[in-house]
Amino acid sequence: MKTVRRKSPKVGFVSLGCPKALVDSERILTRLRAEGYEVAPTYRAADLVVVNTCGFIDSAVDESLDAIGEALAENGRVIVTGCLGAQPRKILERHPSVLEITGPQRYEEVIASVHAHLPPLHEPFVDLIPAQGVKLTPRHYAYLKISEGCNHHCTFCIIPSMRGRLVSRPIAEVLREAESLARAGVKEILVVSQDTSAYGADLKYAPGEWRGVERRARFRELADALGELGVWIRLHYVYPYPHVDEVIPLMAQGRVLPYLDIPFQHASARLLKLMKRPAAAEDTLERIAAWRRVAPDITLRSTFIVGFPGETDADFEELLDWLREARLDRVGCFEYSPVEGAAANALGEPAVPDEVKRERRERFMRLATELSAERLAAKVGTRIEVLVDRIEDGTAVARSRGDAPEIDGVVRIRGGAKLRVGEFAMVRVTAAGDYDLEALAGA
Ligand code: SF4
Repeated sequence: MKTVRRKSPKVGFVSLGCPKALVDSERILTRLRAEGYEVAPTYRAADLVVVNTCGFIDSAVDESLDAIGEALAENGRVIVTGCLGAQPRKILERHPSVLEITGPQRYEEVIASVHAHLPPLHEPFVDLIPAQGVKLTPRHYAYLKISEGCNHHCTFCIIPSMRGRLVSRPIAEVLREAESLARAGVKEILVVSQDTSAYGADLKYAPGEWRGVERRARFRELADALGELGVWIRLHYVYPYPHVDEVIPLMAQGRVLPYLDIPFQHASARLLKLMKRPAAAEDTLERIAAWRRVAPDITLRSTFIVGFPGETDADFEELLDWLREARLDRVGCFEYSPVEGAAANALGEPAVPDEVKRERRERFMRLATELSAERLAAKVGTRIEVLVDRIEDGTAVARSRGDAPEIDGVVRIRGGAKLRVGEFAMVRVTAAGDYDLEALAGA
């Protein structure tokens, strides 16, 4: 009997926004691939395009609307999902011809929309799915999303209204996914969520079994179990709750990377209260000092907002003093921008003029860059472990334990052309810049 081969339907995919949105995109693509769809590399080659949007701040909304416009111009058949999908009016005002709009984490609805506008083949080639799912990130690192939503009410943020309250994934499910990633060759797992340290609170820390042992859905136990996989485990979006201290010894033991991504946002107690930040009352300088006593090589990354309504010169100076003492390794800084629907707009505090915001951001980043350069200079002459990301003109471009992909620095390795992408290597640091290191292979 002759086999009739039909053409697979082809979906184009545009993924915008944070690593959490990237995980959503990967999930949707994994499912579509499982059903026999192909992922088209260009707009022209696609039968329709899915745009996964971000709606966190105004510039992200603009970028998302532009991306939808581009996909419509180039392809014409567009389904919109993601955070901006929670505000369909905004999308339809600019782009009335989109086929369908779904909100964040509505995987089933996105898949149903794709089915409606581009039916799947009846016999999906399920065996074509790679063991680790479809990754948009390079094969040797992957994001692991452990929960959706958030129980906090930070006044500058509308994520809880878009993504809902905290919903943690069961611990056994998370660990099985991590294990299959490691088995499929992933060398670094980046744990993401809106609030990683709150993991399991909504499940009342329900236990689950993995590798024959009962584990509870709790931040420390999750980190400990992930540490068994023998790959780099990097923790993102952690808040300075007291129980976070329990994870630092795991970093000192090498079970998880000595790296904490902890968005402090400000240092002035008055501002933190206006922002309604989680764990705002903690003495963060004391906590940081204690963490460094337990894990001296810990890398601390954080983000900050300057120009929040009501921020005075004194608040800002307090923030600079705090940073001088905290000596964080990696720092990002945003000028406050009012997001439609955020409670901060109704605090009744005076807005900070744009030029003041800009000047504060520049001063803050000058100091942050000096601190970064000082901390990196101290590594010159040491041997460090790196993970190779790519080879560029005979130079291996890698990351140290202190560098998360895309947001932190890199290590450029001379004589590293023989190294392979996704390989761990020991190198000697020969020079340091503001954010990046140079090193010599095999030294
Ligand atoms: S912790 Fe605050 S900033 Fe983060 S998602 Fe929740 S409400 Fe938004």
